[in-house]
Amino acid sequence: MTDTNTFDVVVLGSGAAALAAAATAAGHGAARVGLFEKADVVGGTSAMSGGMIWIPLNHHMEAAGEPDDRDAVLTYLESLSHGMILPELAEAYVDTGPEMLRWFEDNTPVVFDIVESFPDYHPEHPGGSTTGGRSLECPLFDFNELGEWRDRVSRSRQMPAHVLMNETSLGRGGTATISADLMAERAAANLRGCGQALVGRLLRACLDLGVEIHTGHRAVHLETSANAVTGVRFDSADGKVTVNASAVILATGGFEWNREMVRDFIRGPLERTVAIETNTGDGLKMAMRAGASIGNMQEAWWVPIMDVPDESGDMFSWLVNRERVRPHSIMVNRAGRRFANEAANYNAFGAAFHELDPTSFTYKNLPAFLIMDRQYMSKGGIYTYRGEGPTPDWLHSADTLGELAEKIGVDARGLVESVNRWNAQVADLDDPDFGRGRSINDTHWGDGSRTRSATLGTLEEGPYYAVQVRPGALGTKGGPRTDGHARVLDLDGDVIPGLYAAGNVMASAMGMTYGGAGGTLGPGMVFGYAAGRHAAAVLTD
Ligand SMILES: Cc1cc2nc3c(=O)[nH]c(=O)nc-3n(C[C@H](O)[C@H](O)[C@H](O)COP(=O)(O)OP(=O)(O)OC[C@H]3O[C@@H](n4cnc5c(N)ncnc54)[C@H](O)[C@@H]3O)c2cc1C
Repeated sequence: MTDTNTFDVVVLGSGAAALAAAATAAGHGAARVGLFEKADVVGGTSAMSGGMIWIPLNHHMEAAGEPDDRDAVLTYLESLSHGMILPELAEAYVDTGPEMLRWFEDNTPVVFDIVESFPDYHPEHPGGSTTGGRSLECPLFDFNELGEWRDRVSRSRQMPAHVLMNETSLGRGGTATISADLMAERAAANLRGCGQALVGRLLRACLDLGVEIHTGHRAVHLETSANAVTGVRFDSADGKVTVNASAVILATGGFEWNREMVRDFIRGPLERTVAIETNTGDGLKMAMRAGASIGNMQEAWWVPIMDVPDESGDMFSWLVNRERVRPHSIMVNRAGRRFANEAANYNAFGAAFHELDPTSFTYKNLPAFLIMDRQYMSKGGIYTYRGEGPTPDWLHSADTLGELAEKIGVDARGLVESVNRWNAQVADLDDPDFGRGRSINDTHWGDGSRTRSATLGTLEEGPYYAVQVRPGALGTKGGPRTDGHARVLDLDGDVIPGLYAAGNVMASAMGMTYGGAGGTLGPGMVFGYAAGRHAAAVLTD
């Protein structure tokens, strides 16, 4: 800590929402901005992510000759809302996003490219984009530019560090390939992509703008005076520390690692999360104590997850995204029956795990299993297994579907019937049962061929394989309600002076929806920007 404990703006957390808020506040005239992170590293889940941001109406689309349309975007969000997206927040998001993007690109190293031809997650909904343009990512970033901070950024076990999304099969039509030599060169040069590039660049922006960054500071309490927030109390290795601030921006992520909060608020089973383990709902508690109104509490950024071992044998959570979309695979419940379009976007798929059977009063589709055959294994396999050598412990295999069903406790007759039915449908390249392969979303996430066969393929060659797939989340998305400036509102809908929220800690402007690739980091940065801009404006008024 520096000599005095008084800041203009204090930001809590260090993911993309926090870093965007801090850089914006400092860049808009706040003289002293402090960013306080509970963990010993910065970056939160954001640095462990794909790093894409979903910003409709962005100027890159215009430059590419394919400008977006405001009404279309709002229509799209409304079509996904089910009454949970507040129109004023949707409008604030859509209108502030382009400004946020321009400001960062004009004033900081935080620049973006379109992730080419990445369709929205519900591309056929009214206003949805089938051709992409709304999803953006940062170019590779040289981590040496971070100086002493280069080794103090959180890392993912799933996302490759030295790759761009545009170089995976999810970008540029899936044509790009990266040679092992090029990967080695990038690793040696410390050039990083995806969430590392996003956070690296945001962190560089904060350092350039003089933001003071403190790790190992867990915010535990908001100081208030006459209802206004005036500071924060932290637990740190040096004991309790209190700082004063004209504005406090909560950006402490979700409550996904707080089992009690998950039990009390979330709409159905949430068995796994890939978020950083320090996201335990501290910001939510602080906001509630300060009198905030809370919303969207039942929701999360859903994603199917399986358990796999790391190099040392410890199990960790692995996102099951392309794995359940590729051909020669289906997902079944304990009755051995398919229950949803396996290729649907991961957030929407979460709902399928939460279907309760009123007669048996059990979750109908839990446990769920991904079933694959030899063809699947020979065309890429799953996690580290390609069908060669003994089947690893985390995966089940058997020569016949009947034996496989017995091993995993699934109804054998149901499984055999489901596979037969699937094979018959797939012969006609269609899935009348659940519509798999009919959406551009489904074929985009498949095997790269971008036709219906990118996701539709028979299961007919043993051995057969199964892995349990669990209801998981990238993070929760409920918390303090805000206005379009990210100001936290109290129980009467009035602003709590001095308090802002952005990112997964806030009641998401997206309701239960995930609009497209970057649908969580996009709003996180936009409301972080809105908070920083407003907090600085109040100071300089
Ligand atoms: C593998 C993977 C890929 C993903 N890809 C994408 C993608 O491409 N696009 C997208 O939009 N989303 C993606 N996501 C989801 C996205 O990463 C998260 O939704 C997003 O990072 C949340 O950002 P945040 O700033 O709100 O929180 P975080 O980035 O999680 O940051 C919260 C920070 O707050 C800190 N904190 C918590 N409590 C306190 C406290 N009391 N005091 C101080 N600090 C505290 C935490 O330690 C943490 O560092 C992905 C996630 C994963 C895991």
